[in-house]
Amino acid sequence: MPPKIDQEKCSGCGECVNACPVSVIEVNNKKAKVVKPDDCVDCRACEAVCTTGAITFPE
Ligand code: SF4
Ligand code: SF4
Repeated sequence: MPPKIDQEKCSGCGECVNACPVSVIEVNNKKAKVVKPDDCVDCRACEAVCTTGAITFPE
C-alpha cells in the first residue's frame, strides 16, 4: 500500500524521494507526489525521514 502525502504539510524537502529504494515518490513544484504506487514495497522509509508528518499509511 503506497503512502498518502498531505500536500498541505509537505515542505518539498525531497528526503522521502532520497529514502525510497524504488522511486515511488517525486517532488514537483515543491510538493511530493506518489508517481509509481504499484512499485511501493511498504518499507516505510519515506515516513521515517519525513519531518513534517506529511506521509501516512492508511490502515
Ligand atoms: S519528506 Fe515529507 S516534507 Fe519532505 S518532500 Fe517528502 S513528504 Fe514532503
Ligand atoms: S514505503 Fe518504501 S517503497 Fe513505499 S513509497 Fe515509502 S520509501 Fe518508497
